[in-house]
Amino acid sequence: MPDSKQLMEWSERYAAPNYHPLPIVIERAEGVWVEDPEGRRYMDMLSAYSAMNHGHRHPTIIQALKDQADQVTLTSRAFHSTAASLFYQKLAQFTGKSKILAMNTGAEAVETAVKAARRWAYRSKGVPENQAEIIVCAGNFHGRTLTVTSFSSSAEYKKDFGPFTPGFRIIPYGDLEALKQAITPNTAAFLVEPIQGEAGIVIPPKGYLADAFSWCKQKHVLTIADEIQTGFGRTGRRFASDWEGAEPDLWIMGKALGGGVMPISAVAADASILGLFEPGSHGSTFGGNPLACAVAIAALEVLEDEKLAEQSERSGHYFMKELQSIRSSVIKEIRGRGLFIGVELHVPARSFCERLMAEGLLCKETHETTIRFAPPLTITKDEMDWALEKIRKVLSE
Ligand code: PLP
Repeated sequence: MPDSKQLMEWSERYAAPNYHPLPIVIERAEGVWVEDPEGRRYMDMLSAYSAMNHGHRHPTIIQALKDQADQVTLTSRAFHSTAASLFYQKLAQFTGKSKILAMNTGAEAVETAVKAARRWAYRSKGVPENQAEIIVCAGNFHGRTLTVTSFSSSAEYKKDFGPFTPGFRIIPYGDLEALKQAITPNTAAFLVEPIQGEAGIVIPPKGYLADAFSWCKQKHVLTIADEIQTGFGRTGRRFASDWEGAEPDLWIMGKALGGGVMPISAVAADASILGLFEPGSHGSTFGGNPLACAVAIAALEVLEDEKLAEQSERSGHYFMKELQSIRSSVIKEIRGRGLFIGVELHVPARSFCERLMAEGLLCKETHETTIRFAPPLTITKDEMDWALEKIRKVLSE
């Protein structure tokens, strides 16, 4: 078998250079641990950008995958499937919404929500054709497709990819007044991350989400919460919006919905919104495939049975408290909810991530100066203590 050096060389030679991975090859994984071809073990504190809330290869989820693989894996939406029907029912119950639209990736689910909101604006609100506007926030990250890139505020994500999709208005994040000012009679929706993940774990002012959603309701503007990274227990609640009891008209979900095993994403909303898609107006060959649906049902059951949201809140509280006790001149701020924690430094974070990797702990910088700690929610106290010892060492050096 080729070694890590050879594998990284092939990856660098043949893979498009659209990522800048840390120099490690992962060959096996279990729980919070991953292993390279040489048998070196590392703790995963990134969890595939929160797709791995359940830990690597959770036995219940892997069993569901195997069982479904022995039944049927793909039907396309030309036919019904047992697993998809059970999944729609399960996710409708989980979200409290009456309709579900399943896709594969997060960005596709965001596109789906944008299409749904525009449909609703034209057919329900009476916005003139092609005039619908969607309000988004500066610093947002909603994915990498061209329309989603169109409403990014990051020049680096957009450079040399134009022309872009019109119809979006960017306002500062966490600023209720700016939202009030931005709404026009043509506003279809307000799309927001309840906590901005890629921007560096940015938590808006207390009450912002609840106030923003209730203002939008008064103004007949749909609210869309992108919970792709913050959902399914990551922040210590079912969804991060639950911290404020703020319920959007549309939930966008992805990542951990697939239990770290299959790509599956979804939009949940009531029939007055998602019911506006008629046959042929939207879809995806693999969206709602039986294999992903069976895995997602198991992922939701594990989340509930093992009370992962509660565990995330408890563990996050402990982890934050311990991080706050570290005396280090490079730490600027520590912020987080549950096991969704950002340590912002006064200096670039990359070299600290590399040093943590050398200590056996994997994490990734976000927004250049912030280290994100987002381990699987199943992490134990002993495992957290192990990680904290390494973090303490590297940050106080
Ligand atoms: N929305 C948010 C909040 C995300 O964090 C991400 C991915 O990081 C996406 C959307 C895009 O998801 P995907 O990479 O599955 O397309």
